Amino acid sequence: MMDCIFCGIINGELKGEILFQDDSVVALKDINPQAPVHLLLIPRKHIATLLDLEPGDDALMGHVVAVSMKLARDQGISESGFRLVANCGSGAGQSVFHIHFHLLGGRSMRWPPG
Ligand code: AMP
Ligand code: ZN
Repeated sequence: MMDCIFCGIINGELKGEILFQDDSVVALKDINPQAPVHLLLIPRKHIATLLDLEPGDDALMGHVVAVSMKLARDQGISESGFRLVANCGSGAGQSVFHIHFHLLGGRSMRWPPG
């Protein structure tokens, strides 16, 4: 997708600190981290928001979550607790319109989020 930052990183046209990738998912460090561990789990397929998911994307999104759990373990935040967050829509704070989960950990967190 033209003009999508995450498509640019996934395609190698833009820089990104990629920690993991496979056929369908890319995980990179957030450029503006909000916790000691702050990764973004991004499906290679350009889907703008969670509301744009189609039934055929179920396995893909399940895989994104599975990779997130692998990275939570690899990053050493699985025991202390972590958050897996997806903002949907600008009102919820979504600023990049290519689906992604934030994996946040390494500090204590409060609820509810702001
Ligand atoms: P959201 O606001 O939920 O859409 O999350 C977008 C996230 O992407 C934010 O946490 C940004 O800091 C992050 N971000 C934006 N541009 C880049 C980039 N070039 N590399 C890594 N992370 C980025
Ligand atoms: Zn994209």
